[in-house]
Amino acid sequence: MGSRAYLGNVVVLGLGRTGEAAARYLASLGPGRVGSVTLYGGAGSEPGDRTRALEEAGVTVVCGTERVEGAYDLAVASPGIPQDAPFYRAAAACSAEVVSEPELAWRESPERWLVVTGTNGKTTTTSMTTHLLRAGGLPAESVGNIGMPPLEALPGRAEGTWFVAELSSFQLASTRLFHPRAAALLNITPDHLEWHHTMEAYAAAKERAFANLAEGDLAVVSVDDGWCRAVAARCEARGVRVCRLSVEREPEGPCAAFLREGALVVRLDGVERELLASSELQVFGLHNAENALAAAALALEAGVPADDVRAGLRSFSPIEHRIEPAGEVGGVRFVNDSKATNTDSVEKALTAFPAGSVVVLLGGHDKMTDLASLASAVCDRCRAAVCFGEAGERIAAALESARAEKGAALEVVRAAHLREAFGAAVAAARPGETVLLSPACSSFDEFSNMAERGRLFKQLVRDLAGAGE
Ligand code: ADP
Repeated sequence: MGSRAYLGNVVVLGLGRTGEAAARYLASLGPGRVGSVTLYGGAGSEPGDRTRALEEAGVTVVCGTERVEGAYDLAVASPGIPQDAPFYRAAAACSAEVVSEPELAWRESPERWLVVTGTNGKTTTTSMTTHLLRAGGLPAESVGNIGMPPLEALPGRAEGTWFVAELSSFQLASTRLFHPRAAALLNITPDHLEWHHTMEAYAAAKERAFANLAEGDLAVVSVDDGWCRAVAARCEARGVRVCRLSVEREPEGPCAAFLREGALVVRLDGVERELLASSELQVFGLHNAENALAAAALALEAGVPADDVRAGLRSFSPIEHRIEPAGEVGGVRFVNDSKATNTDSVEKALTAFPAGSVVVLLGGHDKMTDLASLASAVCDRCRAAVCFGEAGERIAAALESARAEKGAALEVVRAAHLREAFGAAVAAARPGETVLLSPACSSFDEFSNMAERGRLFKQLVRDLAGAGE
């Protein structure tokens, strides 16, 4: 599969999973395809079992520095390294080109790629798309951010397999020739500005998913935010087929994906298919209807029959830490949305529950984002909020000021950490209500990642259920 160009001398930046996957893949190609493979681990890296194993595979490993030396035909940068970082620049200065790992994977095996990107909803939409392709009998793998780097998945890629790639702005920023068969952009809202510095740069990186789409390819692009609308217009101006995605209105044009009286409808090249009612989905909230519409459009474009798309949408169940039902105790439902690490995702999550029925847990590592819109949504949709962790006080203050402004009745409670916050939420919740962990913050003040936070929440629910027996 794919082009078999001689890659020359290659340098890989970063010793995370991506860097390791890239170095291993390149080393496995042999002298017919690669001259040498060098991996720079970065300033904080140290020799160990992993570096020794790479060396045994034929990789030259350099640890403890970001001063890349030598001359390379190609550099492969891990997504954690911004383009203006000294490490990236040092590699660029001595390499003919610098690309991200998905770009190299695509060059190696360019057929049948679908891409999902956006600020929120990528993982859900990616796994839904893979699920729908499989429902239609097409072999498919989710790759990228969601788990396995595409280069790691390449050796096992069977002929005819679709790659559904979840790609972040970091990975897309360093693509050049990357050309998927279709790509979806769900939304662009403020995030990761410490990496990209400006919204313009962040949005431009996401738009690279579409840079090489040509006539006959499909761009599935939300028209529910201004940044995305601009991308849709530019794609269309270039002659790319654009499927406008909206959960707010019915978009015009031969290709569109939208809700009509609660039903998911996808129109491709003027052919409209009504798929199912959004209430038939097992994943809740307007944002999940949006994710399902994007996945359905990609699957239909890949050739999955509408009936299989319908069946696949019906059977797709929530993934862990994303509005995941975590049990019911004493008539109170518990829902784990630990993955909601920014304010927009919380605002979306709140649409999945009847207004006034939620006790929400908010807090964690403070990213210092603006809280006005979140505070207003929490006042409108929640009965109580428990604020915890590093950001807890700032969130509580924002909620109290929004409450005063709106004359709302929201109960605001402060707690030290997640455990105490959980106890306070249980005390506040009434039968028929939902305790929702949808924290709007990353977890690093208390946990090593959002999954650990979500697991503690579920453990606390189990303990509570056990105590009541
Ligand atoms: P990502 O991979 O982009 O981080 P996920 O699918 O893991 O996205 O979802 C992360 C969180 O974002 C979810 O818990 C949910 O609260 C929210 N979310 C999911 N889909 C969307 C969407 N389409 N728009 C806005 N928020 C969303």
